[in-house]
Amino acid sequence: MNFFREAQRHIPGGVNSPVRSFYAVGGTPLFIESAKGAIIRDIDGNEYIDYVGSWGPMILGHAHPKVVKALKEATAKSASFGAPTQMEVKLAKLMKQMAVGLEMVRFVNSGTEACMSAIRLARAYTKRNKIIKFEGCYHGHADSFLIKAGSGVSTLGIQNVPGVPQAVADDTLVARFNDLKDVETLFKSNKKKIAAVIVEPVAGNMGCIPPANGFLEGLRKLCDANGALLIFDEVMTGFRVASGGAVQLYGVIPDLMTFGKIIGGGLPVGAYGGREDVMKMIAPSGNVYQAGTLSGNPLAMTAGFVTLSELNTHPRIYQKLDEKGEILENGLREVFDKKRISVQINRVGSMMSLHFTKEPVTDFASAKRGDNTFFKKFFHSMLKAGIYLPPSPFEAFFISITHSNILLKETIGAIEKIF
Ligand code: PLP
Repeated sequence: MNFFREAQRHIPGGVNSPVRSFYAVGGTPLFIESAKGAIIRDIDGNEYIDYVGSWGPMILGHAHPKVVKALKEATAKSASFGAPTQMEVKLAKLMKQMAVGLEMVRFVNSGTEACMSAIRLARAYTKRNKIIKFEGCYHGHADSFLIKAGSGVSTLGIQNVPGVPQAVADDTLVARFNDLKDVETLFKSNKKKIAAVIVEPVAGNMGCIPPANGFLEGLRKLCDANGALLIFDEVMTGFRVASGGAVQLYGVIPDLMTFGKIIGGGLPVGAYGGREDVMKMIAPSGNVYQAGTLSGNPLAMTAGFVTLSELNTHPRIYQKLDEKGEILENGLREVFDKKRISVQINRVGSMMSLHFTKEPVTDFASAKRGDNTFFKKFFHSMLKAGIYLPPSPFEAFFISITHSNILLKETIGAIEKIF
């Protein structure tokens, strides 16, 4: 408690990323001391079953022994060189092996940087300025993406982010998620002006919303017909919803993909990649400038390589993650049905969310219809019961391979006791 007060004196809002602040649910954020597997421990020694998973990357659970060992060894060799290392090439090769359509990859330091750089590249390639993004999707905090964005932007209810120049906002066109007609209309009214469509193939920043049948295929066709590039933001879905991410799961290959947290096993990292002819435009092979002192950082590369190697060599992990997701989903459905609570449970593998509403949630408008007052009560009751959920109705829950059936049943049991 006191620590949050202390934090607010030194850091705006007491946090370094807004959704952590419990703004949407009220109360005081937990300050974390450590985590192991699926259990997270706060500085007061309280333990919780963790469904935040550092907002997605902890697919193998916290502090996986192989990741910890490799990081210890890598740290002993120095944290950074500012020069190429073999590990960057090893991780790039592994990602290419796992993700279809990833012909070349460039590492950066965050998902924001990855998406921002992919947009710059798409603009350079097409010699056009406008982009289409989807209402409620989040692609990081670069200016172009803060128009009707999801995640913390919608959690805080910010309509127009001050500081984003009007000219940038004018170049960002916004369509409804899962609505191809809307995208078609934007293409028609902005002929030869649209450089790219960027989309979370499974939305995760307005809760979890899967793509409707044919939506991603339709985007592919519209981009091809209009000479625009298709960018999949796989920051949440890459190497989580399948070993080859959403591209593999839905069989639609974009021109460019962006990645983040997952490919660093929780360390700060990002990457963008895709078609070789497009990627070769990046400096120094081309003149689209993009750089980073800590890009390809050896610690981030090491944690990412060990994490992805584990996923790649044990593909059954994905089946197990899906089974765990199913156990949790079915258990929650049963309890909520029994208690006559209206809820939409959306799930893709180990990514899921709850929206307390009667109607299906397929886009931002329907996500916003959820009863957020109820969500707040639900969140705090769960926290009291030792379950740490994302502190916002617009964020997805993440399940790891370390969420045992016992922990999943404990979670379901907690809900049964609350209502
Ligand atoms: N894209 C998606 C889909 C995300 O979920 C996020 C962050 O949650 C980002 C981009 C931005 O990544 P970062 O927070 O690493 O900048």
